[in-house]
Amino acid sequence: MELGPIGTNAYLVWEEGGKDAILIDAPPESKVEVISILERESLTLTEIWLTHGHWDHMAGAAELASTSVAVVGHLADQMLFEKPAVMSTFAMPGMEFQPIAITQWVDEGDTLELLGRKVSVHHCPGHCPGNVIFFVESEKICFVGDVIFAQSVGRADLPGGDFPTLESSIQKKIYTLPEETEIFPGHGPNTTVGDERRGNPFVRPE
Ligand SMILES: [Zn+2]
Repeated sequence: MELGPIGTNAYLVWEEGGKDAILIDAPPESKVEVISILERESLTLTEIWLTHGHWDHMAGAAELASTSVAVVGHLADQMLFEKPAVMSTFAMPGMEFQPIAITQWVDEGDTLELLGRKVSVHHCPGHCPGNVIFFVESEKICFVGDVIFAQSVGRADLPGGDFPTLESSIQKKIYTLPEETEIFPGHGPNTTVGDERRGNPFVRPE
């Protein structure tokens, strides 16, 4: 789903015929769309995984997270999750952001479970300090937040960003995934590891 107000991708994942759903990233305008799908498919939202703490990826989480919903994020973005207003100068004037309490901090090498499939978590700082990616090994798909996009990369000029760090994250954690891995980014269309290794104009393989 591409959700407002600035077109951020969120991914609601469920198994055909299943009961549980997991939301990966929660843009400010998630609530109506997500709840309508949950109702239509008779699903219960059990977890929200946040790739990073920027407001356009997390400010809709509080409206969807009840006490029974686990919320996953990386500790290096704790301040962004808990005080998203610190980024308000980079948002639209007058917007207010609801903080979100992370219930499960994850870090490099941790493992999560996505509807019975093993997911490895990798820490990819550079766009912000706490961006993590979620790699679903058996399906060869990876949710990457704002680390890399089709033929582009995340901004490194926001507070906490650093281009050499981002470049290293992409070279060591994205370009080392299997070539055919499909990348689901935080903005814009899907791509693959192979396509970006071959053609990304901003970060070349080591
Ligand atoms: Zn971001």
